[in-house]
Amino acid sequence: MKLDLNIQPLNSWIKATKEPLLIAGPCSAETEDQLVATAHLLANTGRVTALRAGIWKPRTRPGEFEGIGSIGLEWLKRAKAETGLPTTVEVATGKHVEEALKAGVDILWVGARSTVNPFTVQEIADALKGADVPVMVKNPVNPDLSLWIGALERINNAGITKLAAIHRGFSSYEKTAFRNEPMWDIAIHLKTLAPNLPIICDPSHISGNRELIGYVSQKALDLDMQGLMIESHIDPSVAWTDAKQQVTPSALADIIDRLTLRKPDTRDAEVNDKLTELRNNIDKIDDLIIQKMAERMKIAEQIGNYKKDNNITILQVNRWDEILNKRVNYGKALNLHPDFTEKLLELIHGESIRKQTEIMNQDIAGAAEDKVTTHA
Ligand code: PEP
Ligand code: MN
Repeated sequence: MKLDLNIQPLNSWIKATKEPLLIAGPCSAETEDQLVATAHLLANTGRVTALRAGIWKPRTRPGEFEGIGSIGLEWLKRAKAETGLPTTVEVATGKHVEEALKAGVDILWVGARSTVNPFTVQEIADALKGADVPVMVKNPVNPDLSLWIGALERINNAGITKLAAIHRGFSSYEKTAFRNEPMWDIAIHLKTLAPNLPIICDPSHISGNRELIGYVSQKALDLDMQGLMIESHIDPSVAWTDAKQQVTPSALADIIDRLTLRKPDTRDAEVNDKLTELRNNIDKIDDLIIQKMAERMKIAEQIGNYKKDNNITILQVNRWDEILNKRVNYGKALNLHPDFTEKLLELIHGESIRKQTEIMNQDIAGAAEDKVTTHA
């Protein structure tokens, strides 16, 4: 099922000066000089489409710098007047929305810590009613697509049609190379549900460090995301927030210069013919996989019936371990990543168990149904 969002195209409210579309600026506005000087350097790169800065910062722990507050709106005004860059700021309450709109901020965004809370999102949505301002909604901190969608729907229901999503990765208990696991499949899922919804990637908060920003940016563009939001500070070493992940404006320009821009399709007939041929091969293999899956499930059903007749449990752990080890090793020999083979087998095995459980419980379910009928 596709999402029923009423959305205007991205280029009706933000135009990339140069590809890719790039929103950049400091994590936090700290001083008027820091913000305005950073904005000038960013504008001079000729790469940046809009200036970002946090002025109300929802921090994980109290006592950390919680943003400069409303005075930052004046600094943003000055930065825009001097550089011509449109501005964007995070809003987390109805009052923030009112103040930002009054100060003429061009684009608003909802942060990850707000998206998790439908009360907060609804308060923001209510304050947005009647405004014609673009809004970008970051994914929630936790990997929950419904929460992300719910926030987009609430904002859209308030009449905001200049809408985009920002993918900034998800919190996970396991520590990896990323500050926030990208979990690309969640962003891809959102794209398939709402093909018109622009998705902008925030490689800074996914990476948590400068080194990974280029890699994450390239991956986002290869997945056909519509733009990037990257934190940039005139001197990251002294940044008051997110110091490790901010880059200077010139480092940002280098990162962007190194990206390869690929198109979603081409008019080159030869390239298209070759792609069609390869896709046909994939289609044939996919059909075969589905066919074989159905055959496998039929056998699982037979096994289920057999186990039932002979009073054997559905799951025999030893047998499962054996299947897993053998197949994962076989997969490895054929260049399949062990994690992939394991996940695939778990999915197939889960469905087998579900089918066998159904068979085992047929009598119980049947008896329960009989009872209901008798009593009715
Ligand atoms: C930010 O953009 O500075 C920010 C706080 O991001 P997030 O809401 O993604 O944590
Ligand atoms: Mn930040």
